Amino acid sequence: MELRKDPITRSWVVIGQAERASERESPCPLCLAIQSDSRSLLDLPLQGAPQVRVYPHFRPFYRVEGEPSRSAEGIFDRMEAVGAHEIIVETSSHERPLTELSDEEIERVLEAYAARIADLKRDARFKYITVLKNHGAAAGEEWPHAHSEVAATTFVPRRVLYELRAARDWYRQRERCVFCDILRQEIRQQARVVDSAGDYYAFCPYASRVPFETWLMPRVHNHQFEAVLPGENRRELARLLRRILRRLAKVSPNYHLVVHTSPSTLQTKGELTEYWRTIAGDYHWHIEVLPIMAARSKSYSLKEVYFNGTFPEQAAERLRQIDPET
Ligand SMILES: [Zn+2]
Ligand SMILES: [Zn+2]
Ligand SMILES: [Zn+2]
Repeated sequence: MELRKDPITRSWVVIGQAERASERESPCPLCLAIQSDSRSLLDLPLQGAPQVRVYPHFRPFYRVEGEPSRSAEGIFDRMEAVGAHEIIVETSSHERPLTELSDEEIERVLEAYAARIADLKRDARFKYITVLKNHGAAAGEEWPHAHSEVAATTFVPRRVLYELRAARDWYRQRERCVFCDILRQEIRQQARVVDSAGDYYAFCPYASRVPFETWLMPRVHNHQFEAVLPGENRRELARLLRRILRRLAKVSPNYHLVVHTSPSTLQTKGELTEYWRTIAGDYHWHIEVLPIMAARSKSYSLKEVYFNGTFPEQAAERLRQIDPET
């Protein structure tokens, strides 16, 4: 595996054949890992019983060893696929999806997200830590057992880089955070807000890429997801996430979830340093949930344009009407 940079869009592409399971593995490797007490990177039990455990990925995209030294190939840039790739097992019970967990259990999952981001950010080789979850076969989930993935990379993924650039430009012109501005307007208009808990809000973004796309965001500005304080604060985020995912489950059982947080700012040289000067003020962490509807082929084609057949105002209205507790 190696990383190649597109000199035009400046996005990195992982090239090479990743080892994948050819079919559903049986018995479940996540159950096996928990039962065998094999080496876990993090163990967050609940009331003495195992709940969340983090393991190195069995078939990693990135290798932890080595230096991400860039080399030139003529005018092009390439790097070794150095990074970390981990699995967060969300519950020891094979049958329970994230939406069936209690607020307290989901809080543990969020704690694991934060702990792994904070820990991997201490490694100066890594520029960005991605936490994501693919739920359902159509989302490309690897195992049916509830889990999320962590990937530490030596580059910032393209979508996050777009957000960082836009947020910095907005801040330069207005000295305000674009995400704070968006959320303030959403709360005022109430057209696309789906739900809230404490200081956290969930809404369908104005230019949703797919039907029922939903973002979760804190009203109080913070650029780092891993800075969400334990206790009541994190419990409220867990409650909101559970209610949102349970609503979405009624319209689409498959979804992608991704945490967008500030990149690592340890590196003081390189292409990104100019971003760090205002990052604490200009970037704002959030969680994006992208449901996968049946007609997914229409959502993003070679034309690189999203076609969304559902107005986000209607999506939000529909999601508000669904009772998340039934
Ligand atoms: Zn299992
Ligand atoms: Zn903000
Ligand atoms: Zn984002």
